[in-house]
Amino acid sequence: DTLVNQIAAGEVVERPASVVKELVENALDAGAARIDIELEEGGVRLIRVRDDGGGIPADELPLAVARHATSKIASLEDLERVATLGFRGEALPSIASVSRFTLSSRVAGSGHGARLEVEGGKAAPVLPHPHPLGTTVEVRDLFYNVPARRRFLRAERTELGHIEDWLRSLALARPGVELRVSHNGRLSRHYRPVADAGERLRRLAEALGDDFTRQCLQIEHAASGLRLYGWVGLPTAARSSADQQFFYVNGRAVRDRTVAHAVRQAYADVLFHGRHPAFVLFLECDPRQVDVNVHPAKHEVRFREQRLVHEFIYRSLHEALAGARA
Ligand code: ADP
Ligand code: MG
Repeated sequence: DTLVNQIAAGEVVERPASVVKELVENALDAGAARIDIELEEGGVRLIRVRDDGGGIPADELPLAVARHATSKIASLEDLERVATLGFRGEALPSIASVSRFTLSSRVAGSGHGARLEVEGGKAAPVLPHPHPLGTTVEVRDLFYNVPARRRFLRAERTELGHIEDWLRSLALARPGVELRVSHNGRLSRHYRPVADAGERLRRLAEALGDDFTRQCLQIEHAASGLRLYGWVGLPTAARSSADQQFFYVNGRAVRDRTVAHAVRQAYADVLFHGRHPAFVLFLECDPRQVDVNVHPAKHEVRFREQRLVHEFIYRSLHEALAGARA
């Protein structure tokens, strides 16, 4: 089974950033309001994610690292309209098979917490272990037992960059959640929790800098069962680049050519250029209109009605940009 998990790890775990993503998404699924992420050496030496979510009962710790054991889906029907971020039940076993892995947790009503250690896919017995409410996952020495993959890891700075990019994208989508990131013992990022819509710009500035927030335009548009809201940078904004493009479908960050094309075209038609517009946009639609199950790790979606989505995004932006130019 260790081998099966290591093969799955090849799909799910590409680098430290993919581990951070899986662990943080689990924390969010568990209802965390605050998530602490401690990293060492770009996450290769250590990734420790602690949350204040619901926790895992001691007797369920082994299940959490067992293959295809997910507590999030009860039926095939659920799979159709999956609301939680994780749903395959393969992240933890995959990660645990290629690292020195520790899962510690405590649920409400339990006097003390418990802890499960897994080394290279082999789980030790669950032991009592003091822990605050919530869960801590520790991943040490990623790929220590898969040298071929370890060789593909890049410099500390590069791996940290991937982690911070992903966290930035998450911070934009989940403004109510506090995120603290430390690297080699130093606090490197702190996204403070946003209590209401009015504070949302603060989170935007924490993530993208105030060059963006000083010049951006707010979008809010709904039609044909679709809703688009967010912010787009105006061409006067000091610097916009491809890494300031954030698009979310039902709260999930995606990269999609239909979307990118619609945005670029709206900019081009109103402002006569559309090379690298900066934007943070959220599309909400009926979950049945979109297939997120395309690839476990890549941020791809498939819209059932691509042309409708394209048209809707194009129109929303075109209207807003034209209004701002007038
Ligand atoms: P999935 O998220 O697809 O269900 P994972 O392998 O990521 O699969 O996690 C397995 C299970 O472990 C989850 O279904 C959940 O029950 C439990 N779990 C993992 N991380 C946490 C966490 N931070 N808080 C509470 N439960 C967790
Ligand atoms: Mg998961």
